[in-house]
Amino acid sequence: MIIAIDGPAGAGKSTVSRGLAKALGFLFLDTGAMYRAVALKVLESGADPESETQCRETAERHRLSFDPAGKILIDGTPGEPDVRSERVEKIVSAVSAHPRVRAVIVARQQAIASAAHGVVAEGRDTTTVVFPRAELKFFLNASAAERARRKAHQVGAPERQRAIESDLLRRDTIDSTRAHSPLVKAPDALVIETDGKSPEQVIAELLAHVHARRAAAPRE
Ligand code: C5P
Repeated sequence: MIIAIDGPAGAGKSTVSRGLAKALGFLFLDTGAMYRAVALKVLESGADPESETQCRETAERHRLSFDPAGKILIDGTPGEPDVRSERVEKIVSAVSAHPRVRAVIVARQQAIASAAHGVVAEGRDTTTVVFPRAELKFFLNASAAERARRKAHQVGAPERQRAIESDLLRRDTIDSTRAHSPLVKAPDALVIETDGKSPEQVIAELLAHVHARRAAAPRE
């Protein structure tokens, strides 16, 4: 079974998707971490984030996989915490906007999923492009202020909430207006508003949908 979860930056997708995967015993596929890994390698190699050819070559050059806890490995080495750094955040949307980078990464995401018995995939295009036939699709959303508040709390810098909010909005704009695979809600995705809800509450809400779906199609 494939469960695909999309939504804007900071909507709580990672925490919720990871928790949902754990509850179901499924593989957690953090597609954003793969683009972050490419962006990190672009920085480290001095490649130009605006050059599609250089970014695609970087994507092809490195082996991306996940450890059992669902954390990204680049050529077998942990990519955390570097893939979450501010300098990666600054360029990741530009790197991921290149169609030929996406083609390389999407094929790898599909290969990882096909080798697993159950997957919770999260990102921007998992419900539309990567897994258009996923059995369940969710679009997780939250207000910009709430998303910035959570992220500032997560990085232990409440005073940076405003700066974080403007960075989230900047990434939202690039991610939803790019020509290829923009962040859009799939027509068959269920919208889950997460403002004012704890991760546990959202996970419980999603689990209820999974159970209902399984009851309706018991052989999946
Ligand atoms: O989800 P996360 O914030 O880690 O994603 C980082 C960036 O990777 C996003 O801002 C977006 O530019 C890109 N991304 C994407 N497609 C995905 C997942 C992430 O373009 N499926």
